Amino acid sequence: MAYNHMFLLSSLVVLAALHGIHAVEYVVTNNAENSTGGVRFNNDIGIEYSRQTLVSATEFIWRLFQQNTPADRKDVQRVTLIIENTDGIAYAENDEIHVNANYIKEYSGDLKGEFTGVLYHEMTHIWQWNGNGQTPGGLIEGIADFVRLKANYIPSHWVQPGQGDRWDQGYDVTARFLDYCNSLRNGFVAELNKKMRSGYSADFFVELLRNNVDQLWTDYKAKETLTSATDFIWRIFQRNTEADRKDMQKMTLIIENGNSIAFTSLNNEIHVNANYLGSYSEGIADFVRLRADLAPSHWVQPGQGDRWDQGYDVTARFLDYCNSLRNGLVAELDQKMRRGYSADLFVELLGKTVDQLWSDYKAQYGN
Ligand SMILES: [Zn+2]
Repeated sequence: MAYNHMFLLSSLVVLAALHGIHAVEYVVTNNAENSTGGVRFNNDIGIEYSRQTLVSATEFIWRLFQQNTPADRKDVQRVTLIIENTDGIAYAENDEIHVNANYIKEYSGDLKGEFTGVLYHEMTHIWQWNGNGQTPGGLIEGIADFVRLKANYIPSHWVQPGQGDRWDQGYDVTARFLDYCNSLRNGFVAELNKKMRSGYSADFFVELLRNNVDQLWTDYKAKETLTSATDFIWRIFQRNTEADRKDMQKMTLIIENGNSIAFTSLNNEIHVNANYLGSYSEGIADFVRLRADLAPSHWVQPGQGDRWDQGYDVTARFLDYCNSLRNGLVAELDQKMRRGYSADLFVELLGKTVDQLWSDYKAQYGN
């Protein structure tokens, strides 16, 4: 039938890549042309764009996995992409990638970007080693999303770095963790993939990074906590540029058995008592906690305390009051203290002595 003949011509593109005898063939088929999703695929994405994306995803993955010769790669002659009405988003099986036309129909937002990210993820499944079936599923999915991360097709709903409960939770959680591991050793994910050609062992992490994967996960979580705490403190202190900040290349968080809750030492180490495992607390640091809505239940209420410089929660509450009189006060105070400290700083910034401010503060709360 003429109609069927035309259908085949318009929906099937076969192309052998010009890479010599190991050329990979890419085939794109739209089996959902009569449905809304299939029509949207033709209008907003198209067979030619899809085919080009299969080629570029493959080249990206080979480069990322450091598979420079055909001997390094899985022996795949032909990859087929099928658009069809099915369930879920997409899956890869037997060198075929299936994408749900209903998902294309329903997707709101940057459809082309999302579709491209999905193809990078599924194409990774075509090329990655799975340890002869022994690699945990979460790691398989994490590597596929790691490729998507590195190709910069990151959906907005992904977790932020440091989030998640387990290293092998899969998808974005594991992808972010692998990105951390990769920052410790450039090419880590490529080497891990190479090792999984014939099998899988959790020892691969120890061999490549000299730490077991649980320890790496703990380090990763702690590092991201420090990073977000630092970002938060810089925001509170209005340190928007490098020049505004203390010159600090490295910060170390040490969990140890000690007597105090925590202390910071001169060489940018934060020591936290493992017996307490709270946050560190001292004057301005406690103000930061207050702002972060992390005030512990045992803190004094606003207006309580005997002296403004009593420290900890008492001073933090007082500084919060001062900050309400002049937004950004604590940030300015901190900036001025870079050069030295004088009680006149309060007069300069708020037009009153600190003792007067303390009296006003106490009066406001009827104390
Ligand atoms: Zn997957």
